[in-house]
Amino acid sequence: MQHATGAFARSSEVDGMANDPPFAKDTIAVVGVGLIGGSLGLALKGLGIGRSVVGVSRQETLDAAIGLEAIDAGYRYEDLETGIRDAALVFLCTPIVRILGMLPAVLGAARQDALVTDVGSTKQAIVSTAAAHARDDVHFVGGHPMAGSEHRGVSAADPFLFQNAIYVLTPSPDTPDFVVEEFARLVRAFGARPMKMTPREHDRAAAAVSHLPQMMATSLVSMIGRMTEDEGLPIRMAAGGFRDLTRIASSPYEMWRDICRTNAAPIREMIDLYMESLSAIRSAVDRDRLEQAFAFANRIRGQIPRDSKGFLHPLHEILLLAEDRPGVIAHVARTLAGENININDIEVLNVREGEGGTIRMGFDSRPCAELAVEVLGKAGYSVRMR
Ligand code: NAP
Repeated sequence: MQHATGAFARSSEVDGMANDPPFAKDTIAVVGVGLIGGSLGLALKGLGIGRSVVGVSRQETLDAAIGLEAIDAGYRYEDLETGIRDAALVFLCTPIVRILGMLPAVLGAARQDALVTDVGSTKQAIVSTAAAHARDDVHFVGGHPMAGSEHRGVSAADPFLFQNAIYVLTPSPDTPDFVVEEFARLVRAFGARPMKMTPREHDRAAAAVSHLPQMMATSLVSMIGRMTEDEGLPIRMAAGGFRDLTRIASSPYEMWRDICRTNAAPIREMIDLYMESLSAIRSAVDRDRLEQAFAFANRIRGQIPRDSKGFLHPLHEILLLAEDRPGVIAHVARTLAGENININDIEVLNVREGEGGTIRMGFDSRPCAELAVEVLGKAGYSVRMR
C-alpha cells in the first residue's frame, strides 16, 4: 500500500492526483447494491478502479446492477461470505440495522488485510459493533458520504453522486493512519472531500444539521395537516417558503427508522435545544425584539455553501464581473483549467440582458481561490475574493 500524506487537509485539486488510485488492481465488494452501493459501483467502474467490483444483494437487484454495469458479478446474501472473501475493500451499503447484523459475519470472513467500511447515516452504533468483532488482521473505517437523493434502489444510482460531497470517515482508534489515508485518497478519487471525525462528533453534528431538520419538517407538516383536516385550514395557501422548508417531509420512513433507532439521544438533545430556541422567539415575538435573531440567522444562512453537499464546509469563494456575451463562462473555465485550478461550485448570481452579471465560484482552499483571482485578473476580468 502506498502512504498518502495530509489525508484530511482540505484537498486542493490543484495538487492533482499524481498516483494511481488505491485498490485499482483489487477485487472490491459492495454489499447492498442500492442507491449508494450502486453509485459506488458506477463510480469505481467509471474510474477504472478495482480488478472487479462484486455486488451482494437480492438476485433481482444483482441482475439490474449488472445490467447497469454497476457491478461485474453478484452473490446473494446467502453467499455473503463467499462474495466478500477475495475483496481487499468491502463497502457495506444496506440499511443501518442490517449493517449491524452483518458486521460480525463480514469481519469474520474478510480476507487478511482487507479494509471494511460502511456508508450508514449514523456512526456510533456501527463503529462500536465493528470494534466488538474486530480482528487484528482486518481494518475497519466507518464512513458516511453526505450525498443522496429522495430516490432509492440501484436504478437511481449515479456515478457522480459523490462529486463535491463531504465524505465523513470515522476510523477506529486502532486503525493505522496509512489505512485511513489510503481510503481518503480513494474518496478523493470519487470527487468527494474526506472529513475525519469521531463517531460521537459525527452523530451529534448529523443530529443537528440533518436529523433535527427532518423531525421539524415532519412535525410541521403533520401539524398543518391536522389543522387542515380538523379546522379546514386552507393548505392551498402554502407557498414557496413552506414548500422549501418542508421538502424533506416527503422522505420515506424506512431509512429514518434506523437513524432514529441508532441516534435517539443526540436527536432528543437537538429537539430540546430547538424547543428552547423556539420558546425564546415565542416570548419576543410581539416586542420588536427579533431583529438580532433575524440578523444572526441571515448571516449564518448566507455562509452555507449553495451547491456543496454535506456538513457545513464553506468553500472559498470569488466574485467575477462578466460581460453579457457568448462563451464567457467557457473562457473563464478554460483559463482556470489552463492553470489546473478546479472549480468546485459555480453560480451566476445576477444577469441583466446587455449588462452582464456576477459569477460566484467556489474553491476547495484559500490558496486555490487566491490563485484563481490572480489568473483571472491577468486575463482581464474584474474579480475579487468574496
Ligand atoms: P437503498 O437505495 O434502499 O439501498 C439499500 C440496499 O440495501 C439495497 O441494495 C437493498 O436491496 C439492500 N437491503 C438489504 N436489506 C434490506 C432491508 N432490510 N431493507 C431495505 N433494503 C435492504 O438505500 P440507500 O439510500 O442506498 O441507503 C443505504 C445506506 O446508505 C443506508 O445505511 C443509509 O443510511 C446510507 N446513506 C443513505 C443516504 C441517502 O440519502 N439515501 C446518504 C448517505 C448514506 P436488496 O435487498 O435488493 O439488495
